[in-house]
This record gives sequence, C-alpha cells and structure tokens, in this order.
Amino acid sequence: MDDMKARAEKLRAMCGDPSTDPRELLGAAFELLGQLSARLDEQAAEAKETRAFVEQIDEDLADLEDAFFEDAEDPEDKEPDGAAEEPEEPEEFDETELIRYACPHCGKETVFRVESIDLEDAPRCAGCGELLFPGLE
Ligand SMILES: [Zn+2]
Repeated sequence: MDDMKARAEKLRAMCGDPSTDPRELLGAAFELLGQLSARLDEQAAEAKETRAFVEQIDEDLADLEDAFFEDAEDPEDKEPDGAAEEPEEPEEFDETELIRYACPHCGKETVFRVESIDLEDAPRCAGCGELLFPGLE
C-alpha cells in the first residue's frame, strides 16, 4: 500500500514537471492502475474467503447452541422456523423390563418381569416363602 502511495506521489510530481515525457507519465499511471486492480482482486478473494469462514463459524455456533440448549427446557426458546417440536411425552415405561429384588427376609434375589408383578397377589419369596413386599400387607 505504501508502495502505491509512493507511486501516486511520484505520478503527481511528474504531472507538475513540464519536462516529463508524456509516455513515461502514462506508463507510470498504467503501472499504478495495474497494481491497484491486482490489489482489488486480492481483496475480493480475501473477502470471499472471509465470508465463507464466517458462515462456517455461524453454522458451527448454531450447532453448538442446539447441543448446549437441548436439555434446557425453556419454553421461550422455541424454534423460530415453526418446526414445532412434539411436546415431550412421558417416558414410555418398558413393561418387559426385568428387575431384581432381594428378599427382605433371606436376601434371595428374585428376578421379576415388571409386567408380571401383581402386588394384589402378595408375591412370596421362592427361597423362604415370606412375603416379598411385607409393607404392602
Ligand atoms: Zn426370602
């Protein structure tokens, strides 16, 4: 840039000097123009690069925000694009899940299928025959 300023100064000086050869003056002027246009191309390319970079950062930031606020239940923070999120349903209870329960009397572990537990039936321990859930009697 300083180089171009210096050339512009020199050009102005040449214009003010009656002994300047017009061809020399034109040559210097075109040289400066060439430099200027090259610099403009450079800057346009840089600007394009910068724009792509900023867009990438913007996308990454949006991803980060999504990940960061995913669990935060803030009703104010709805998706603005109308992609209405399904209201969160209560977590479905897996009825086929197995649970282990240790008999409070003998400690024998009994494995239940959650769906098969019938507390009305007062299940008894297979080891000692006592009630598995005595508090429910
Ligand atoms: Zn028992």
